[in-house]
Amino acid sequence: MAFEHYRNLCAGSLTPCPGMNVIYGRNAQGKTNLLEAVWLFTGGRSFRGARDGELVAFGQEKAALHLQFYSEEREQEAELTIQNGRRSASLNGVPKRSPAELVGKFRAVLFSPEHLSLIKSGPALRRNFIDAALCQVKPAYAPLLSRYHHTLVQRNALLKDIPRHAELLDTLEIWDDRLARYGDAVARERAAYIQKIEAPARELYAGISENKEQFGIQYQKSAENLREALAAARRDDLQSGHTTVGPHRDDLEVTVDGVSARAYGSQGQQRSLVLALKLAEADVLEQEGGEAPVILLDDVMSELDAGRQHYLLNRLDGRQVFLTCCEPGAVKRLEEGALFEVRRGELY
Ligand code: ATP
Ligand code: MG
Repeated sequence: MAFEHYRNLCAGSLTPCPGMNVIYGRNAQGKTNLLEAVWLFTGGRSFRGARDGELVAFGQEKAALHLQFYSEEREQEAELTIQNGRRSASLNGVPKRSPAELVGKFRAVLFSPEHLSLIKSGPALRRNFIDAALCQVKPAYAPLLSRYHHTLVQRNALLKDIPRHAELLDTLEIWDDRLARYGDAVARERAAYIQKIEAPARELYAGISENKEQFGIQYQKSAENLREALAAARRDDLQSGHTTVGPHRDDLEVTVDGVSARAYGSQGQQRSLVLALKLAEADVLEQEGGEAPVILLDDVMSELDAGRQHYLLNRLDGRQVFLTCCEPGAVKRLEEGALFEVRRGELY
């Protein structure tokens, strides 16, 4: 992996080992920036919600990233450049129309402190957790989801037009049919994914939290049969001017001992739950075929006691991991891994 003018990382490279790679350093040195740079090769956006232009080092016009990785049984290389506020990508020397075309090639699972709000925040973040994971597991899911959203936008526009143009009411049927078809498929994929993630997440949660609490997870549909629900909600939808049922209103319910973690979970429980969900995501990615994903763990150790750290490191054995922390002493068993220090945007 090589980088140039990416945030505070001036110019340098990182040659990781196949196992545990610990990236340590004091605050604000560039550790998270480095993980963020690796993450961008999954084809997604910055996990910190940054705009592309913000990724270029202050005072520079262009950032460049280069990654060599193993996937589909061969060595591959990808390039990302960020210029004029836009990312562009190429794979094995061939330019891609959009960085999103990298999705499914280089696969990674990321845990960052931003994810800690997954349990307590609104449902949008939880839907996004499932959607982002599904896009990597099943690249055909991304176009399905975007067809659903596109249809939703069209239907909502129509709902707003109908009060002024009553003759448009007939066309609503067509949009309802289409929305129900895509929506049912989206909800089916999401529910199936949650079923797959449940067993590994349960095992991971038990391990991380060192207790016998019963973990549960369920996909909550806003409608069982979307076609019927759309018909039933039509009057409300026409009044409000938007679609009130469908996968864009679904949620994910996580429970501990049968009660909602969102409503009752403690801080420590939420932390363990999110970590379990993220690592279960990696298990499912691997089960579903293809290369094992790279695990990116930003600042996870500082929050875990020695027993939990020990469990985590053991559980991750055999995977390629990039782990950031302030104090490398906190990470034992380093004889098998590689250690990198980040100081003012330089790697040592
Ligand atoms: P912490 O331990 O606090 O999480 P960190 O090592 O993870 O620290 P980073 O989040 O990687 O730190 O950020 C390092 C520095 O990068 C910050 O001080 C920030 O100001 C700087 N930075 C962010 N974006 C840019 C940019 N576009 N150009 C130059 N510097 C930037
Ligand atoms: Mg950081």
